[in-house]
Amino acid sequence: MTAAYRLDVVVPCYNEADVLPVTLPTVLAELRRLVASADNRLGAFRLLAVNDGSRDATWAVIERFASDNAEVEGIGLSRNCGHQLAMLAGLSHADADAVVTMDADLQDDIGTIERMLAAFENGADLALGVRIDRSSDQRRKRWTAQTYYRLLLALGVRIVPDHADFRLMSRRALAALLSHGEVNLFLRGLIPSLGFNVTLVPFVRNSRELGSSKYTLRKMFGLAIDGITSFSVVPLRLIAVLGLVLFGCTVLLSGLFLWLWLIRAGNFVPGWASIVLPMLMLGGVQLLSIGVLGEYIGKVYLETKRRPRFIVQETTFGEHR
Ligand code: UDP
Ligand code: MG
Repeated sequence: MTAAYRLDVVVPCYNEADVLPVTLPTVLAELRRLVASADNRLGAFRLLAVNDGSRDATWAVIERFASDNAEVEGIGLSRNCGHQLAMLAGLSHADADAVVTMDADLQDDIGTIERMLAAFENGADLALGVRIDRSSDQRRKRWTAQTYYRLLLALGVRIVPDHADFRLMSRRALAALLSHGEVNLFLRGLIPSLGFNVTLVPFVRNSRELGSSKYTLRKMFGLAIDGITSFSVVPLRLIAVLGLVLFGCTVLLSGLFLWLWLIRAGNFVPGWASIVLPMLMLGGVQLLSIGVLGEYIGKVYLETKRRPRFIVQETTFGEHR
């Protein structure tokens, strides 16, 4: 590639009115610097800020920046759709040669974009930001993230550990991604499964300077369950294995009781525990199994409805031209 290329940068924003007045100028300055720099072939860029149904002044901030800066555009969703779908909404509006997604809180170190561009110019279709240092995280978050990545890998989900949603995608990788129609979107599992030329770009993640994390425990749990159930049927298989093991145990136990009854015929009193405990255990296992089944059936239900994954309420496109 010799000609100059264009870049779109997608930033999902949920209640980020405090942070955006810092983030947008910083990212704008960096991208303008990259366009002016002779070290790369970046010719132009657009910054697509997606308002994910915020309840604060986020959209007003985005609109103001969009009218003051020709490179900034806003996309407003009709309600809160969640981080993954907000990102998807931005990605579906991207039409450049490459697109970068990043968080609104400057935790994703913007100096990394230059290295992602370098990877892109060297032929990478996916340049995935990988955190090399989690010391800016709380201990609880660090531990849960690590355990979760291990669990996903063990379940056969092709995930890149410590890669979240800071990445560059080429036009063709983006087209491949957008051809996936699933409602239960787990981008960090989907993207490594696309194939293409992948380059990992290590970076140190900053701590959040302003505002608070928009990932509530509930949202994080939802994302975690989606990550498993949208990529792995291992939990379903585990149910069958569990059932088989329990069946085996019951057969053995029955044999044991029969033997006890035979050798101590007459004075063997069947224990209360031997009746109630297996009953409780089986009840528990059944409920758990039904729960896992329900989780998958719920997914099937949502997918078959083919509902729109996000609804755009307003955009700033064409307003300042
Ligand atoms: N976000 C979003 N919708 C949501 C929750 C979060 O668009 O429902 C955005 C948020 O504005 C930020 C990014 O997703 O740009 C990551 O969220 P956050 O920084 O709160 O997560 P953390 O860094 O704590 O994992
Ligand atoms: Mg953050």
